[in-house]
Amino acid sequence: MEALVVAGVSVDPRHYIGGKRIASPSTFADYSPIDGSLIGQIARGGQAEVDLAVAAARAAFAGWSSTPPAERAKILHRIADLVERHLEELAIVETTDNGALLKSHRRGVMPRVAYNFRFFADWLVDQLHHPSFETRGHVNKVSWNPAGIAALITPWNAPLMLATWKIAPALASGDTVILKPAEWSPLTASLLCDITAEAGLPAGVFNLVQGYGEEAGAALVGHPGISRISFTGSVPTAKIVARAAADNLTPCSFELGGKSPTIIFDDADLDLAIDLAIEQYDNAGQVCLAGTRLLVQKSIAPSFIERFKERAGRIKQGDPRELETDMGPQIHQEHFDRIEGFVNRARSQGAEIAFGGTQNMTLGGLYFKPTLIVEPESNSEIVTEEVFGPVLTLQTFDSEEESVAMANATEFGLAGVIVTGDRDRAERIAEQLVAGTVWVNCFFVRDLQAPFGGSKKSGVGREGGTWSFDFYSDVKNTVFAPNGWKG
Ligand code: NAD
Repeated sequence: MEALVVAGVSVDPRHYIGGKRIASPSTFADYSPIDGSLIGQIARGGQAEVDLAVAAARAAFAGWSSTPPAERAKILHRIADLVERHLEELAIVETTDNGALLKSHRRGVMPRVAYNFRFFADWLVDQLHHPSFETRGHVNKVSWNPAGIAALITPWNAPLMLATWKIAPALASGDTVILKPAEWSPLTASLLCDITAEAGLPAGVFNLVQGYGEEAGAALVGHPGISRISFTGSVPTAKIVARAAADNLTPCSFELGGKSPTIIFDDADLDLAIDLAIEQYDNAGQVCLAGTRLLVQKSIAPSFIERFKERAGRIKQGDPRELETDMGPQIHQEHFDRIEGFVNRARSQGAEIAFGGTQNMTLGGLYFKPTLIVEPESNSEIVTEEVFGPVLTLQTFDSEEESVAMANATEFGLAGVIVTGDRDRAERIAEQLVAGTVWVNCFFVRDLQAPFGGSKKSGVGREGGTWSFDFYSDVKNTVFAPNGWKG
């Protein structure tokens, strides 16, 4: 297979297994959401490639798992250095592949990719510790031991950032890794393979199998040689993965979808509230954590809607490579149609579309306008299901109790945003929200040492800091008796 040249960057379309590039008899097409152009053909893996990758990861496990933590950390820092060195290539390739903003990739996302490696390298060396404790004169010592092979399955909305948020702690833990990235955005994972090789990561420690979820993904999560499955994606796919994992009792971590509330009280700083509501359109609405249900206290709803509409009218949609663009395209046609279907059904059920609600006719293609749907039925699908596009709903409430009841009234529990000028109220509401993360008067402030995950259908387990090591390791307690010692 020929190397692809993507925005001037050479990208290998093959798998990376045991330190070697491997092709497959068949391929799949990768398109750019920016203009629908064909980027190229990517190797289409299945059972055979997964079997090879598991064998390579198993062969590499003894060496990597016994590499001293400080040495593992050094290699992870070298990977981070190289991510920083190749930041511009990674940013433009990711933008071409998934349509997210180039300026975001440059400023926030790719630096965070590098930081994922640095953070878990340092945490391994400096922080991964549990104080010993005593039981009737015996000393308990807790340790984190490499678990084996980690299978990582990731989505397309923030491909390299989400993948490395798993790869870094898995490698730091001493596991060997097989990544199956989303078929809609396979490219930066391939660039990462080159980077890991250049950083001196031994062959077989990190492996990449490209392909469709139903083929490569299914073969990977059902493989009996896998020790951990970390999955980020949708709830329906997670259920399929959980069933496959059940046969081997493989432990799973699930980071899934959301339908989070942004609760705006009448005592809020309205400018801040508008800014935070606008942020929920980030990445063209393709953000799991987005607080897409605006819950606004009734007394301020008319003025909020008026100002929000004016502000949303200034969002500049366009080519994500241009630096003045605020919102790019949706990832692919099927996803675009799904978003449009949600909005059309809400409209036909009588919901008021305050603005947006259609394709951006000037841009065409996969560009859907920022949309606000006002006072839809509280049990309608537009309120209860994840749209994963630039579509917000706005509902009003009178009392704190009502706001909490509305906020918690979905099967999801990923995040929540509270906007209020009253600290006591913020504490009270935060306490009652069922969510993995709550932001008060802010959004998307993420620290890698914080627990991250979803409640209810938004996920199983938590990652971040020691929580990540807990998942990717076999946590062991060793009890030393006070007696029986010679000397
Ligand atoms: P998806 O579930 O369609 O796909 C996710 C991954 O699963 C892809 O790599 C896909 O190839 C793979 N897959 C599909 N079928 C499979 C199977 N049978 N076995 C194994 N793997 C399989 O999700 P998506 O459309 O790529 O991503 C969007 C979803 O991800 C949204 O629901 C979003 O909220 C969620 N998400 C969650 C988080 C989080 O941290 N909680 C972050 C980003 C995205």
